[in-house]
Amino acid sequence: MRSLLQNLFFPSLIRTFANRNDETTTSRRFHDMKIREIIGALEQFAPLSLQDEYDNAGLQIGLTEDADASGALLCLDVTEEVIAEAAERGCNLIVAHHPLLFHAPKRIVGDDYVQRCIMQAIRSGIAIYSAHTNLDNAPGGVSWRMAEKLGLTKVHPLLPLGGGRDGGAGVVGALPTVMEREDFIALVKETFDADSVRYNSWTGERVKTVALCGGAGAFLIPEAIGAGADVFITGEIGYHRFFGYENDIQLMEIGHYESEQFTLEILREIITKTDPSLPVFDTTVETNPINYL
Ligand SMILES: [Zn+2]
Repeated sequence: MRSLLQNLFFPSLIRTFANRNDETTTSRRFHDMKIREIIGALEQFAPLSLQDEYDNAGLQIGLTEDADASGALLCLDVTEEVIAEAAERGCNLIVAHHPLLFHAPKRIVGDDYVQRCIMQAIRSGIAIYSAHTNLDNAPGGVSWRMAEKLGLTKVHPLLPLGGGRDGGAGVVGALPTVMEREDFIALVKETFDADSVRYNSWTGERVKTVALCGGAGAFLIPEAIGAGADVFITGEIGYHRFFGYENDIQLMEIGHYESEQFTLEILREIITKTDPSLPVFDTTVETNPINYL
């Protein structure tokens, strides 16, 4: 990694030298693209102003203002293993869906994994960026991609952002053909590679209109019913919320990670469109903290 001094003087000369140097070592190869330009592209797609009030999306750990990008590692969640992988792959940028920093730490001494990740990222010269509810709410974001995977058409937001803005929370759309309930449950399980799908008893038999939301989207159940959806799919619903909807809607809980896994495709598309030569990797670390037996 280049020193601060190198950043300040003759950046292009240094870059050339650094690249040549990198060919004989395993150190990073820097590209012409700045980290801030990649962030700019991500935020053009999913402006931070679209994030929910409680959220903390955006740049979480930064490098010097004008640092060149050496590669991007994509993940849903940042862990110590993910940061180690980024360092190993020569990436000085991690783009995650979930913010690493959500609750403000009062000290950084390595008490928990978040503090250890902060220390490790800074020590390794790795920037960490999160595209969270801004990417959920942006048109073409997390839920849109889920709908695309299920082949839904006429997709539009379940809870529009309002204020003349496109996008919103969750989406609703239509299957190309009416499906039997059992066949649809099997399709969802397969599409999201879910080890288990939890669903309520429902008096309906066929599915045509499908509402869904990546992550913990149970707050949208009333909107899904209001939109005339036969089914509502989300990552987390929780025991108590399964009650009382048997005449209204088929609820399906597929797992938080499973529902958001295709988010990495969106991030990859934005970054490679901005800089086709920048190495971009999906993490190979299994970051789903939940196991199934
Ligand atoms: Zn999530």
